[in-house]
Amino acid sequence: MVDISQRLKFSRYRLDRQAHIEVDYVKCRRCTHRACLTACPAQCYLAHAENGVLFNYEGCLECGTCYVICDLGALKWNYPKGGCGVNYRFA
Ligand code: SF4
Ligand code: SF4
Repeated sequence: MVDISQRLKFSRYRLDRQAHIEVDYVKCRRCTHRACLTACPAQCYLAHAENGVLFNYEGCLECGTCYVICDLGALKWNYPKGGCGVNYRFA
């Protein structure tokens, strides 16, 4: 079995100053499943009493899962600016 945490230890991350994913919390407040909480492999989404979730773009693996599963269209999803974000290395 592949251990993702072991693979990721070789990766580098360069933080962009601006979030590459924007979340519309008005939509999140009426979300009944909050699937992003469990689907994001980097745990970028945390439960939040008022907004439903709270998003933190730091550590995002750019997998696109949250964009695919969000059926309320709450996410404006982009890749980080050139040179920023995750840089995968597997050895
Ligand atoms: S699945 Fe979409 S609408 Fe629901 S909480 Fe997550 S980001 Fe918000
Ligand atoms: S793109 Fe992937 S890693 Fe980034 S926030 Fe969405 S689910 Fe999490």
